[in-house]
Amino acid sequence: MLCPNCQRDLGAPVLSADDPPVFRCAGCQGVWVDSNVYLAWVAGRDIEAPADLTIDDVPVADTQNLKLCPTCRRFLTRYHILPGARFHVERCGHCNGVWFDSGEWDTVVRHKLQDKVNWLFTEPWQDRIRAAEARQALERLYHERFGAEDYARARDVRAWLEHHPQRATLLAYLQARDPYRV
Ligand SMILES: [Zn+2]
Ligand SMILES: [Zn+2]
Repeated sequence: MLCPNCQRDLGAPVLSADDPPVFRCAGCQGVWVDSNVYLAWVAGRDIEAPADLTIDDVPVADTQNLKLCPTCRRFLTRYHILPGARFHVERCGHCNGVWFDSGEWDTVVRHKLQDKVNWLFTEPWQDRIRAAEARQALERLYHERFGAEDYARARDVRAWLEHHPQRATLLAYLQARDPYRV
């Protein structure tokens, strides 16, 4: 099997006591997770659903080049897999193998998701990623539009109003052109 990134021979999988066997490229340090090898490792293990998490450490080596599956030679599809992390991994829609650029697999392992790789591509998990991304985009937009100080103030007011018993009246008061006129 050749590395989808730098075309070196991927050699034999790296075996470890706790982690699934993966192919690590000696050239670019990327990691290929072969679906059959992975599923054989996962089989029989008691895997819990991943917890809610937000990740803000972004591996630097997120390669952009189009890649081919080392097993089936089809194009790999790009996915975001961790909420808050901007890097992509690439997956083969045919054999379900996954390519992680240097540093990306280690991030998955660091967050103890190495036994949940299948989960990361399911609809509920991908929905969660999209929701997190939409949220971040809006946060950036508000921050840009309001400026840091006013945005912080607006969030304070929101938090204060959220469970306030007079919320509706207070909002009407704030919105009224002249709240002292009937
Ligand atoms: Zn490589
Ligand atoms: Zn494939």
